Amino acid sequence: MNCCTIENCTKPIKAKDLCAMHHQRLLRHGDPHMVRPRRVKKFSECKWVNCTKIAMTKGYCSKHYYIHRAAKPSQVNAT
Ligand SMILES: [Zn+2]
Ligand SMILES: [Zn+2]
Repeated sequence: MNCCTIENCTKPIKAKDLCAMHHQRLLRHGDPHMVRPRRVKKFSECKWVNCTKIAMTKGYCSKHYYIHRAAKPSQVNAT
């Protein structure tokens, strides 16, 4: 039995010399090599406005967690 023509793919051919998975990719993307980037959300961003750092503690980056924790309730509204 012939295998998929894509490199490193050993699955049996389903259509157009491609296995089911790669044939699906060909149909969807027009390119069997196309791999949809997986959005692995391992890290979340800091909750602080305009901060794009990785959240380390309780949704804040290390710097903003320190500020958040250090800020007393009376000071929070006094911006
Ligand atoms: Zn394949
Ligand atoms: Zn931050």
